[in-house]
Amino acid sequence: MYLLFGKQKAVLLDTGATKRTEDFPLYKTVESLIKKFAGIEKPELFVIHSHYHTDHYAGDSQFSGKQNVTLVEPTGAAMREFFAFEQWPNGEAYFDLGDRNLTIIPTPGHQEDAISLYDSQTKWLLTGDTIYPGYVHVKNWSEYTKSIARLDEFVTTHEVSAVLGAHVETTTTPGEIYPIGTIYQPDEVPLLLASKK
Ligand SMILES: [Zn+2]
Ligand SMILES: [Zn+2]
Repeated sequence: MYLLFGKQKAVLLDTGATKRTEDFPLYKTVESLIKKFAGIEKPELFVIHSHYHTDHYAGDSQFSGKQNVTLVEPTGAAMREFFAFEQWPNGEAYFDLGDRNLTIIPTPGHQEDAISLYDSQTKWLLTGDTIYPGYVHVKNWSEYTKSIARLDEFVTTHEVSAVLGAHVETTTTPGEIYPIGTIYQPDEVPLLLASKK
């Protein structure tokens, strides 16, 4: 999950795999981070998703009906409407947080509604489950190939400081993954996939 602050708005990308507030007080954590890092004016929080898989939206219910929060439903239809994609998966969308602009790039393939985000401030490219250092699951190879080509073109025309996905299950031993439910991963592979100055 990534929490990005602009001058007027903040974005939470994905809400994780756990629904229960008792085990996973995500809203409370995000709220305290907003209090800590935001200026005098509390930014409006937009909850968005890298794609429509339950391990990325299970925490959504914690945000529903909360003040100063816009929860974009995780479905493809809601996402496309929110970002005003007219010819999905073509074109890009933009979301201005106030002196911090996000570019939304359609990257279906792992899942049909997947997006990647580029942050103008950190130059991060946030790729969700589309690409990360681990086992990447591809549902539609034809769409996936086109999405990777789209990302490849994007990184040649934009400065990218880091490519960051949404999963860290892999250990530093190639082919070895931590079992689901692991809460301590001392040998996990770094999330940072690539960087260039
Ligand atoms: Zn996924
Ligand atoms: Zn996932």
